[in-house]
Amino acid sequence: MKRALFPGSFDPITLGHYDIIKRGVTLFDEIIVAIGVNADKKYMFTLEERMAFIEKTFENESKVKVITYKGLTVDYCKDIGVEFILRGLRNPADFEFEKAIAHTNRDLAPIETVFLLTSADTSYIASNIVRDVIRNNGDYTKLVPNSVRVT
Ligand code: ADP
Repeated sequence: MKRALFPGSFDPITLGHYDIIKRGVTLFDEIIVAIGVNADKKYMFTLEERMAFIEKTFENESKVKVITYKGLTVDYCKDIGVEFILRGLRNPADFEFEKAIAHTNRDLAPIETVFLLTSADTSYIASNIVRDVIRNNGDYTKLVPNSVRVT
């Protein structure tokens, strides 16, 4: 069974993440959306909220699982026996950042990182911009799945 871990902060999940996960499902038997827990980072949404948004989004997609993890992504992959990491690429900045991480990860473990190029209509979407829109009372609903609602 081919399983891929899709790690990130998902603060919150956006239509950009959604697109990568939906396309990942066609390539892998299971996509494990993995929310990294970093005690030093300040988030807009709690871990429970971020998890609930993703679970609700994929409630009818049995190939998508949501988990949280601490520590190195490759260590977690080894722990649960996952051989692939899935990442999205939006632009050259993402490429440079992801390249360094993927090379480092491959030094640490025999885990292959698979990249999917962002779709044209979601390429500009980023969680930090979504958070800015939310903070300033803008209409964020066009940028995120329907399950993400600020109450
Ligand atoms: P981080 O916490 O590392 O910033 P995110 O949680 O924002 O990561 O994103 C996790 C993954 O989703 C990354 O591989 C990132 O490139 C990808 N991603 C985020 N937004 C998009 C998008 N609009 N199109 C394609 N991939 C995206």
